[in-house]
Amino acid sequence: MALMPFLLYSDGKGNIFEDVTLYACGRSGWDAMDIPSEDWIALPNGGQLYELPGRRGIGIDVQTGQMRLCEKGWAVAAFIPPAYTGSFLAAYESLPHAETLPLFCYTAAGWQDEKFYVTALRIEQDIRQEAAGFDENLIDKGVDTFLHAYPHNRLVKHLAENCCQTYECPASRNYFMGRWECPVPTSPACNANCIGCISFQPVEETIYSTQDRLTFKPSAEEIIEYTVPHLETAPYPIVSFGQGCEGEPLLMYKTIEKAIKEIRKHTSKGSININTNGSDPKAVKILCEAGLNSIRVSTNSVRAEVYNPYYRPNNYQFEDLAESLKVVASYGGWSSINYFVFPGITDSEAEYEALRKFIKATNLKMIQWRNFNIDPDWYMEKINMQHTGAAIGIRQMMSLLRAEFPELKFGYFNPSIERINGSFENDFAQ
Ligand code: SF4
Repeated sequence: MALMPFLLYSDGKGNIFEDVTLYACGRSGWDAMDIPSEDWIALPNGGQLYELPGRRGIGIDVQTGQMRLCEKGWAVAAFIPPAYTGSFLAAYESLPHAETLPLFCYTAAGWQDEKFYVTALRIEQDIRQEAAGFDENLIDKGVDTFLHAYPHNRLVKHLAENCCQTYECPASRNYFMGRWECPVPTSPACNANCIGCISFQPVEETIYSTQDRLTFKPSAEEIIEYTVPHLETAPYPIVSFGQGCEGEPLLMYKTIEKAIKEIRKHTSKGSININTNGSDPKAVKILCEAGLNSIRVSTNSVRAEVYNPYYRPNNYQFEDLAESLKVVASYGGWSSINYFVFPGITDSEAEYEALRKFIKATNLKMIQWRNFNIDPDWYMEKINMQHTGAAIGIRQMMSLLRAEFPELKFGYFNPSIERINGSFENDFAQ
């Protein structure tokens, strides 16, 4: 069955309707376009639909085949859940004075045969952030147990009260359920100024960060106290420095080095990972010497001219990212990029060619294809991206990379040590 969902619009009061006179379009870069049938999947569990105030959806007239605006209401987009990667953005035209959208992803959505559809693919089989997998009673019990077990630990208190009970961060909820990846935020400061930073937004901006940045520097003792028991007892255990509620963890490398050394004196289990902007290869080397198992370097692009206007780095260079990845690979560690996927830019021919070179140069092990949580117009204006060039399609790009780099892994989450050393296709939470 060919999928050609109808366009969705909202009445501005949170009610969403299909417009049966228009088929839904997708967006790539600045361009609205027809969507291949194979790009549509049913809206996954945990996905949400957003109305986009001040924006008119663009669709294809079912009679004439011409593209036109839907004047019946505001445009609608989908927030797709972790483990899925979006292949097209929602297509709309912004009215003058439309407010900047908050830091979420805006994937193309439509309606057909009594179902919502989105343009996405499941890139990760690991179920660690499946909405249905979180048990509120177990989480509350875990919070209570760990707060009593570590009464003086500021980090556990932060994870409980802020991350778990306020932000509902899936990593912290998994920690309090005693499983999988455990977060270890450490840094109140950052050496980058990302336009779409989720832990800090300048007062002059009209949008808010989705989390508040950590306000204290945890000690190595506070880190060790709760991470060793997690590594010892959790299934597929990982402890991950570098979380959404902090700045750049490499600025705290001395504390992290001390913590890793001490953790490894107590347990050899699990993976010790760092999510980072990759700004300091020397610090990464010190952490590898201490026992770091894996690194995930975040980036919106592997081209300096696209990276720099977004990250606005202080005292480091784009080239440091590749150096940090090479250091971990040279120690036999696992190296991933946390790749912010923006249809039209990520799958542009220029980005694809640069990524091929980057993978070869860094001996990269994995690409985590992450949806870019940002207002598309705002982002492209801020990085001054007027022309994206020809795009090859997100799915097409993945197929080409799979063919050229058969050992390169695709996913959405940091792999456990079992998955790194065992079967990547089987050794994960399922
Ligand atoms: S590297 Fe992370 S913490 Fe630093 S500005 Fe960018 S998003 Fe924010």
